[in-house]
Amino acid sequence: MDHFTYRNGELHAEDVPLTCIASQVGTPVYVYSAATLTRHFGLFRQALDWTDHLVCFAVKSNSNLAVLKLLGDLGAGMDVVSGGEYARARAAGVPGDRIVFSGVGKTIPEMRMAIEGGIRQMNLESEPEMHALSALAHSMGATVPVAIRVNPDVDAKTHEKIATGKSENKFGIPISRAMEVYAEAAALPGLRVVGVDVHIGSQLTDLAPFRAAYLKVAELTRALRAAGHDISRLDLGGGLGIPYRRDNSAPPLPIEYGQVIRETVGDLGCQIEIEPGRNIVGNAGILLSRVIYVKKGEDRDFLIVDAAMNDLLRPAMYGAHHDIVPLIQPPLGAEQQGYDVVGPVCESGDTFQKGASLPAMAPGGLVAFRSAGAYGAVMASEYNSRPLVPEVLVQGDHFAVIRARPTYDEMLGRDSIPAWL
Ligand SMILES: *Cc1c(COP(=O)(O)O)cnc(C)c1O
Repeated sequence: MDHFTYRNGELHAEDVPLTCIASQVGTPVYVYSAATLTRHFGLFRQALDWTDHLVCFAVKSNSNLAVLKLLGDLGAGMDVVSGGEYARARAAGVPGDRIVFSGVGKTIPEMRMAIEGGIRQMNLESEPEMHALSALAHSMGATVPVAIRVNPDVDAKTHEKIATGKSENKFGIPISRAMEVYAEAAALPGLRVVGVDVHIGSQLTDLAPFRAAYLKVAELTRALRAAGHDISRLDLGGGLGIPYRRDNSAPPLPIEYGQVIRETVGDLGCQIEIEPGRNIVGNAGILLSRVIYVKKGEDRDFLIVDAAMNDLLRPAMYGAHHDIVPLIQPPLGAEQQGYDVVGPVCESGDTFQKGASLPAMAPGGLVAFRSAGAYGAVMASEYNSRPLVPEVLVQGDHFAVIRARPTYDEMLGRDSIPAWL
């Protein structure tokens, strides 16, 4: 459920007509609903209310400071994968003891930043990283809580580019070697082993892979405890999918996901951390765009819109589908037309949808790409020197620009021409 609905024939974000945002801020623009964010975060909390837990929002899915502040104020922790994301989480007011640091290639400056600023736990992804963190922490006179990310060799049955739990993926250490690596970690200075970490992929639409992975984590936890390790936390990652098509069967709900966690690891008495991103913010955002031209092709009509692959990369990168809907609801029974919806960027990959079913559109008409809150704005670029897409947050009947569209001067001002040219 989200808060983008038609009222009096016009698509609204909560109580704000989206046409109003389009005219005041311009297009393309991302629009997020505070109510949907709050609701989705609450669903994960509720799903784990049977145990001590922390819901760590995956910052990579949407790292706008206002979004992080909203979730942080609700009590969310943050899962970060870079120094930049750590800085954002802290700037949004989230204390270090609610931040977990994941990622396969943490650098020394990034790890130093986290140790100095405070960190709940570092999720280690390899032995070289473990040694590097140990040496660094030791040299700083610090002891860092760590979990080791294990790769359970489970097929997440998702898009290959976002599957992370198979043995051929770059993530974590093979679960078969975990006992050895934990023994090594326990002997290293500067590290305090506190937990086990796993994350098998994104946009999972079935609970079976989660169940398989978490059963392996439970078995490992028992073995680690028997070997004398004090395992008090389990970080079970993110990955629960969202419905990208209104007409499709929906993925499992957070409450059902929470039930799987309870059934697989609930008896271990560990504190549970999860790292949902997409499921919290995906359907809390849309991308608003205006039709520039309607171009008649030989066998098809093109809707050329002012959003492009640089603003929303998922269709070009993953072949992803986003429902495209008109801002003005067509009259009941109005005829639909098939359009290939494309952006202005000079690549054929800049195609959002082929044969999208829409009412007859005209230049100046407005459309919304649904389910665009996650992995949307964060992946945007200025390719073709198109100004970085702005973001707006709606709450009730008001809205604010939470990232402004840069001017051409600002864009150009980031480059410099050396004196010797
Ligand atoms: C990407 C990622 C997540 C979030 O995945 P979602 O599918 O957005 O829930 C969580 N944890 C880690 C380690 C990740 O890489």
